[in-house]
Amino acid sequence: MAIVTLCPQCQTGFNVLPEHLSAADGWVRCGRCAHMFAVDQHLYEMDDPRPVQEFIQPLSRPSLNRHGATPFRKTPSPVWLWISCSLALVFLLQLSLFQRDWLAARVPELRPALVSLCLPLACEVQSFKDLEQVSIESSSFKRMSDHRFVIEGVVRNLGDAELAAPALELSLTSQGDISVRKVINASQLGLSDVLPARRNLHFSFTFSLEPAVSADIDGFKALLFYP
Ligand SMILES: [Zn+2]
Repeated sequence: MAIVTLCPQCQTGFNVLPEHLSAADGWVRCGRCAHMFAVDQHLYEMDDPRPVQEFIQPLSRPSLNRHGATPFRKTPSPVWLWISCSLALVFLLQLSLFQRDWLAARVPELRPALVSLCLPLACEVQSFKDLEQVSIESSSFKRMSDHRFVIEGVVRNLGDAELAAPALELSLTSQGDISVRKVINASQLGLSDVLPARRNLHFSFTFSLEPAVSADIDGFKALLFYP
């Protein structure tokens, strides 16, 4: 039984001597490719040492010995690796918190974890708002009586994720000029808080106007927005 080491870069085998393990914390330099590695992390037992003897090369004696050569540069220590991983994790958590509404809309399975993450920070995971993905598919404005009107239509979520339901700004015109402006929120329109992905939803809102104003109303403009 022989103890050998294999260079992790060129796979050349070398016999391991006790001095290799004790000097320079067990760091050695490969005699073939000059790669430096910790010998104790690449130890192997060979039942028959002879085949190894046929291809191994003598280990060059680098600065691991006591003859005054420069020390080896080691790979980053586990502490630095741990700090780097922790910083990456903190960055990932901050990014998740910053984009929490979008993330919860795209991956609903993450919502409970995001809510838990928000609890100690007093933040909230809300429905994602994306005005470019909601549109009014159709709308109509009718006079029901002298002073009562109804605005109704269909709003569509064009995207692949659920979105917060928008509000509606209704401008009523008289001979081309805006004479009344109303803000109607999602619940007044009969919409739920969220618009499911790729779905049309009907909305409707009935209201009355002062007689002095209502007589001249002859048109309307409707605009979706997020308060
Ligand atoms: Zn090598």
